[in-house]
Amino acid sequence: MPRRHYETDIVHGGEHGDPHTFALTTPIVRSAPFVFDTLEELESYAAGDVQRYEYGRTAHPTGRAVERKLATLEHAEDAIVLASGMAAVTTTYLGLLSAGDHVIVTDDGYKRTLMFARDTLPRWGIEGELVDARDALTSVRAALRPNTRLVLAEAPTNPHLRMVDIRALADLCHDAGALLAIDSTLASPVNLRPLEHGADLVVASATKFLGGHNDVLAGMIAGNAELLEPIRALHLNLGAILDADACYLLLRGIKTLGVRMARGNESAGKLAAWLAAQPKVSTVYYPGLPDHPGHELAKAQMDGFGAMLGIELRGELPAVRRFVNALEVITLGTSLGGVESLVLHLGALMNPSLNDADRARLGITDQLIRLSVGIEDYEDLRLDLVLGLAAM
Ligand code: PLP
Repeated sequence: MPRRHYETDIVHGGEHGDPHTFALTTPIVRSAPFVFDTLEELESYAAGDVQRYEYGRTAHPTGRAVERKLATLEHAEDAIVLASGMAAVTTTYLGLLSAGDHVIVTDDGYKRTLMFARDTLPRWGIEGELVDARDALTSVRAALRPNTRLVLAEAPTNPHLRMVDIRALADLCHDAGALLAIDSTLASPVNLRPLEHGADLVVASATKFLGGHNDVLAGMIAGNAELLEPIRALHLNLGAILDADACYLLLRGIKTLGVRMARGNESAGKLAAWLAAQPKVSTVYYPGLPDHPGHELAKAQMDGFGAMLGIELRGELPAVRRFVNALEVITLGTSLGGVESLVLHLGALMNPSLNDADRARLGITDQLIRLSVGIEDYEDLRLDLVLGLAAM
């Protein structure tokens, strides 16, 4: 039988319904312990002779269903689901790194991922170095050392939607004896599957496109089972598991990922082209635009350009405030990737915690707006932006 198509895997992958009740959907199994009939059963489980559930923090059936689905979609051997994207990032760091190791993180990325590497990992004797994401290959090459164990890069980056040649970066890392992890939160596996391009691990905030409905916080790590082993072992001890109810929400959200991403890719592409022609917009960061520096790379390694845009407005902060405040359909909020379109002024959120040098280096200007395109009607979104631009 030919391999079934990706869209079918999105709906059915990893799920077996419930053989006991004949339910079509995966049940929410809310049990802390999973019990044994006899002491002999417990003994053979403890000896590793039988694979089964024992205790909800180590594994539970709803969680394993999501993990199987995520592994299927990332074309990975296995996946781990966790309580948030930050749990995925920090558990990856701590599961793979030891005192004396060096980790490189490209700097156009989620602030807490960067800050944890630079400011928190040194508490355990691990050195976290941030390097320029504008030319990640050059800056990673220059920063690699014999003790570099891990390189983490976002693809595409947040908020400038920069692209990196994952294959070339993976070769560079592997030649130096380092592992490459890609945070592909902004792409979703529908648009980009980093393992196919040579990355060792994918980490992502499943709160975003995977969950897709702005109603669940979750994270995921996917890769080969051997590499995931120390990360999973640490995860079970740290205890930041995703409970069965949240796992169910994530499973249900993922089922519509294919149609949501198709819609998001299309609307974001049209909005990017339209915005780029507006006199009050100076730059649109969107890998689907032919003049985006990562356009050719995005075409080569992605199946869609995504539903995220960065927009630089022409005007001072008061005009930018008027733009944001005038929006009626698009809401101001810190997340992305859901069915509801969201706008964010990163400067307002980050300025209090960034110094001028960091702000300048990260390109967080007063004029920068991040737009996550939801699945509302395209024309309603465009007209909302017309309102914003008129209010400036
Ligand atoms: N990675 C990226 C690219 C993100 O944008 C975020 C959050 O915004 C995270 C990781 C962290 O995810 P979470 O908020 O689910 O902890």
